[in-house]
Amino acid sequence: MTETIIARCEAKGLRMTDQRRVIARVLEESDDHPDVEELYSRASAVDPKISIATVYRTVKLFEEAGILERLEFRDGRARYEDAERDHHDHLIDLNTGEVIEFVDPDIEALQERIAQKLGYRLKGHRLELYGVPLKKG
Ligand SMILES: [Zn+2]
Repeated sequence: MTETIIARCEAKGLRMTDQRRVIARVLEESDDHPDVEELYSRASAVDPKISIATVYRTVKLFEEAGILERLEFRDGRARYEDAERDHHDHLIDLNTGEVIEFVDPDIEALQERIAQKLGYRLKGHRLELYGVPLKKG
């Protein structure tokens, strides 16, 4: 079990105001890929005094500290997820924008092999698939 986002922020010496704590907690409880507007609506449900500018600055701060990972799925919106979540890749439904998470051991192994063939030890990767649902029947 990894430490909470708040604990990691504190370990990195970030000053944790009440509003930053609320935003950190909202992120902690999210298992999807919210953008700033979505985070703002979740955070302001907890503390109505939080502004979207505060959410924006806070996620940027967390991103720069390596606590959040920033994702962009071709729609021009930055989305965020906890950088310490277990590794997974994403498939994006082009019709609905739904983001599906997956891990495929064959893909993981193939990427290792490609890196090795090119003379590298793989330290990470990011894979995004874009698709539309297969027609049924
Ligand atoms: Zn994800």
